[in-house]
Amino acid sequence: MTARVLVVDDVVANIKLLEARLAAEYFEVVTAMNGPEAIEICARGQCDIVLLDVMMPGMDGFEVCRRLKASPATSQLPVVMVTALDQPADRVAGLEAGADDFLTKPINDIALITRVKSLVRLKTITDELLARAKSTGIGFDDVVDLAAVDGASGRVLLVEDKAATVDRVRSALANVHALEQETDPQEALFRAAENDYDLAMVSLTLAGFDGLRLCSQFRSLDRTRQMPILVVVDPDDNARLLRALDLGVNDYLVRPVDRNEMLARIKSQIRRKRFADRLRDTMQTTMEMAITDGLTGLHNRRYLERHLGVLVQQAVARTKPLSLLILDIDHFKAINDEHGHAAGDDVLREFSRRLRKAVRGIDLASRLGGEEFVVAMPDTDGALALLVGERIRQKIAGKPFQSEGANSIPVTVSIGVSSLLSANDTPQSLMKRADDALYRAKREGRNRVAVAA
Ligand code: GH3
Ligand code: MG
Ligand code: MG
Repeated sequence: MTARVLVVDDVVANIKLLEARLAAEYFEVVTAMNGPEAIEICARGQCDIVLLDVMMPGMDGFEVCRRLKASPATSQLPVVMVTALDQPADRVAGLEAGADDFLTKPINDIALITRVKSLVRLKTITDELLARAKSTGIGFDDVVDLAAVDGASGRVLLVEDKAATVDRVRSALANVHALEQETDPQEALFRAAENDYDLAMVSLTLAGFDGLRLCSQFRSLDRTRQMPILVVVDPDDNARLLRALDLGVNDYLVRPVDRNEMLARIKSQIRRKRFADRLRDTMQTTMEMAITDGLTGLHNRRYLERHLGVLVQQAVARTKPLSLLILDIDHFKAINDEHGHAAGDDVLREFSRRLRKAVRGIDLASRLGGEEFVVAMPDTDGALALLVGERIRQKIAGKPFQSEGANSIPVTVSIGVSSLLSANDTPQSLMKRADDALYRAKREGRNRVAVAA
């Protein structure tokens, strides 16, 4: 994982120091000595992450951060504020300016690399999801903006057995987050799997239990894999801290825990989790929309075209039967003409509902367009497909349809059936034979099922 890091500082020696450490981890480094120069580099898209000194003559780091976050071209760019150790309020001010993380001078190597890597990882995921969304060809205007996601009012699970620490955390989080505390690590694992915590804070100095084991269990359970983990370590316990980071722990705090730093780190982890969740949800909705028919909720033609090929290949490879139904509502134009287009839409929706109920979960039911539907049925030979077709026909004709304007609309459907005949069959040949059979069903009087010759 490599990335181009922009280091912004007005002191050359500071730049050189960070440059050397980042280069040792194979990051590419670009530098700027003042705010306006930094903003220009970012606007040109020449970096993936920014390390930003707070105290600079002219425009200070907070102002640079605010401007970067306010511009759409750079608002997604991760910013790490570099603050002085004796200015704890700067950390909070940095987050308020929209910064994604902060480092304290003198900069600790582990802290530097952990925070840079974690933000690069987040940016990589974001970029990838956005690229994938774009490639679906669907508008993705509703891009989630990390700056707009807040990290307030989270549910935090604290795994800690030192009463004094628990009290301190409790009073710091009061009125900000809902804190639940657990002393027993096994119990903590249970609770985390059952509940939806926004963050787990795990002590690595539990008496009689290795907190690292719990972190590793959190990472291996599906239910807790995405939950951010913040560990609390003793100073100078770098060996355990490095193990924790290897296990995928998101961030850490060193004892004695500084109240402001704890609040800031919890808030920023919760924000990132919510951001990732929202991004995933948006992606999922976008993907679903791309393969779903908006009116009926069935799969659309695009999905059918993509998956029928797969079903045919699988059936041929496994020498299993496969059948196809093409369904076309009879005299649907007349239903529209008589009851109106809205009633026609109601009929299509109810038709789809009955169709879905009449087939199995593994059958692929889709709306081809208009009042035409296709059902692909794996493991189903012609004789069975005819039975399914007949059952659907009866479910449609058996009970009149309802609509707001008209509460008794008789509907019938004609159905053509085809089945896989040889390894040379293709989705097109199957569709063609089913379509010919459908045409015959229509010609022979409608409201009937015809099997391909
Ligand atoms: P046939 O028995 O031969 O299939 O006759 P039909 O009237 O069903 O067939 P035709 O293809 O002539 O008409 C289909 C009608 O379906 C025409 C079109 O306006 C209507 N239609 C297509 N899509 C929709 C839709 O989404 N909603 C509504 N309400 N009507 C639609
Ligand atoms: Mg029709
Ligand atoms: Mg038609």
